[in-house]
Amino acid sequence: MSSFFARRFGFNRSRKKDIPGGLWSKCPSCAEMLYQEDLIKNLQVCASCGHHFPMGREQRIAMFCDPESFVEWDAAMVSEDPLEFTGTDSYVAKLKKNQEKTGYADAVSIGKGTLEGMPIGFGAMDFSFMAASMGSVVGEKITRLIENSTEEDMPVVLVCASGGARMYEGMLSLMQLAKTSGALARHAEKGLPYIPILTHPTTAGVMASFATLGDVIVAEPQALIGFAGPRVIKETTLQDLPEGFQRSEFLQDKGLIDQVVPRAELRPLIVDLLQAFMAARNPA
Ligand SMILES: [Zn+2]
Repeated sequence: MSSFFARRFGFNRSRKKDIPGGLWSKCPSCAEMLYQEDLIKNLQVCASCGHHFPMGREQRIAMFCDPESFVEWDAAMVSEDPLEFTGTDSYVAKLKKNQEKTGYADAVSIGKGTLEGMPIGFGAMDFSFMAASMGSVVGEKITRLIENSTEEDMPVVLVCASGGARMYEGMLSLMQLAKTSGALARHAEKGLPYIPILTHPTTAGVMASFATLGDVIVAEPQALIGFAGPRVIKETTLQDLPEGFQRSEFLQDKGLIDQVVPRAELRPLIVDLLQAFMAARNPA
């Protein structure tokens, strides 16, 4: 609705009176009005059509780690401003704004927890912090998650989401692709499993490194997953893109994703997979 109509007829004001802010969310897929409390209970999935809403890191931790078991590592690690982006849109200002908005120092939380009693290294990327872009802090924390887990003989489960590399850090951002991939290779050498869970959206540098290097690559339904965006691909190849292009179901058909799993089924699946991998590693 244009601001003219809103002003002229006061539609926005009367709607706000009827629906107290924060109590209801409208499903972007089926337009159903969903009561916030029900949505939380349903793991942020629309009960009417199955649309998966974005999920914050606390909820991801609660989903995968046994209650009170998660211990966060390096929560206070913050980025430098290596390229000295200045002005009103400076990197420092942008970081500060996102830190105040989310209460976190950067776009990923990592640590150690237990899943059905099994010790795991666990991380969750959070799209609400600068589109979960990967700079040196995100890359370093994911590397430490993998390296600490390697040392402690733990599998790694990582919920991925990202808009790509963080342009404010230039090459330091791109270095994280190689660094995280190297750490995963050493983790795999010890026979330890790594399962990335790809959520909407997982793109660019993250998709081209640790998000797609899992022993089993799992994705949530309808997640956008890809390297370059569809417009860039279309303009480069001069071809029409097939329907459903870059969605998890399409990528499962093509073999990039092993399994598309509704959110409610993720935890039991990860438990089964990790138990099978760890039993194969240490036969009784
Ligand atoms: Zn819906």
